Amino acid sequence: MRLLVAMMKHETNTFSPVPTDWRRFESWCLHRGEAVPGALGGTNTPIGAYLDLARGAGADIATPLAAEAMPSAPVERACFERMVETIVEPAAKGGFDGALLDLHGAMVVEHLSDGEGALLAELRRVAPGLPIACTYDLHCNLTEVMVENSTVSIGYKTYPHVDMYAVGEQIGRVLLRALAGEVEPVQAWGRAPLLAQTLRMGTADQPMKRLQAMAEAEEAGGCLAATLFGGFPLADIPDAGVSALTVADGDRARAEAARDRLLDAAWSAREDFVYRHRLLTETVAEAAGLEEGPVLLLDHADNVGSGGTQDVMTVIEEVRRQGLRDVAVAAVWDPAAVEAMQSAGVGATVTIHLGGRTDMPSVGLKGRPLKITGQVRVLSDGRWTVRGPMYTGMEVHTGPTAVLESDGMKIVVVSRHHEPWDLGIFTSVGIDPRVTRYLILKSRIHYRAGFAPIAGTTLTCDGEGVTTSDNSRLDYRELRRPIFPLDRINEF
Ligand SMILES: [Zn+2]
Repeated sequence: MRLLVAMMKHETNTFSPVPTDWRRFESWCLHRGEAVPGALGGTNTPIGAYLDLARGAGADIATPLAAEAMPSAPVERACFERMVETIVEPAAKGGFDGALLDLHGAMVVEHLSDGEGALLAELRRVAPGLPIACTYDLHCNLTEVMVENSTVSIGYKTYPHVDMYAVGEQIGRVLLRALAGEVEPVQAWGRAPLLAQTLRMGTADQPMKRLQAMAEAEEAGGCLAATLFGGFPLADIPDAGVSALTVADGDRARAEAARDRLLDAAWSAREDFVYRHRLLTETVAEAAGLEEGPVLLLDHADNVGSGGTQDVMTVIEEVRRQGLRDVAVAAVWDPAAVEAMQSAGVGATVTIHLGGRTDMPSVGLKGRPLKITGQVRVLSDGRWTVRGPMYTGMEVHTGPTAVLESDGMKIVVVSRHHEPWDLGIFTSVGIDPRVTRYLILKSRIHYRAGFAPIAGTTLTCDGEGVTTSDNSRLDYRELRRPIFPLDRINEF
């Protein structure tokens, strides 16, 4: 047996000004050919599971590409075409029994709203009938083209995404069973006119906890796979929003009934997918009155892991204005500030205009740095390995990194964008987050993977940025309408 195993992932925030080119993939994860198993084998990822399954089945494995970039603006066309060619080229030569693909499902390209659909359609064009299994992120914006050009597909049931390996293993096994003639998978999919907000998709909370339990119950009741996708709302494309995808063994009616149950339940919970706002000054004032730490302050409107520029200073500024002490921040993206601190050296006192390097025209904001005088505490190369439950075993590289301490606040400053979902972002630079009273995290839900077990109270801070949960700040033009809650519809 010969299997094609590949990964191509990006969650595209069409409102983000952060460019997505080949270098951005290189700065998180980009490996080709023989290097792929060495880099991704043994990690808590779908491709990690695919590699184990393929080896276990005694298959010949081709691994042309494993590429993932942190969320940002639409992928540059040349970069996308290079990735697709790299995956499609071996398939075009023939000889494969199946393909196992680790995808995101919310990739937008400069000239295309459906990157994964384009990849799958091209694969099927060069290799008609090739059995293809796909994993998608919980934030996948599913399309008909994706479903039509695949054999079996599944999405994560957790957010933070700690079940990546498990879903890869589950759907990979289904494909192997199909290749052996043991099952005949049929897929059903559909979507609700519902643009759920990411902040309301955590699977420890309702309504997602209940909806994901329903999907599990569909699998226990006979579906080969059942997924309820939250979708990725920061994408101004026709297909953004909530969807469901089910796979049954030869039984289309079963797949369709399960799909309908999931979509109906999601639609019934639509009001619970809307985030309720609160003034930043009020939230920080509440934090100031809390005794038990660590208190997590989520700067969710500048969430790196959804395309945030990671250099918006609004929340940091308010926390300083209200005089909170014993604060650590992960992290501010500002390569020039790191350079300045490197030149000054550890122990030096510096005055820096920190952050605010990036304009955000889609939400009408100019980059606005914050002038801070403080001491350079740590300089590092930004390399560390994830020990927590999400992306376990992956190596992180935040580029040249520094810690600036000022007025009771330690700010980790990085040269590459990275969402803080693992304690390593602090411990790698000598900060112990467990004994720090306040942790400002440029994260939304993924922080829970590493930080929920150590947190006292968690407060969501409504700052500014291109990952805002305030829909009135976002100018949707391409999104299909009507859609709830932009349109107050009550049936579908
Ligand atoms: Zn996601």
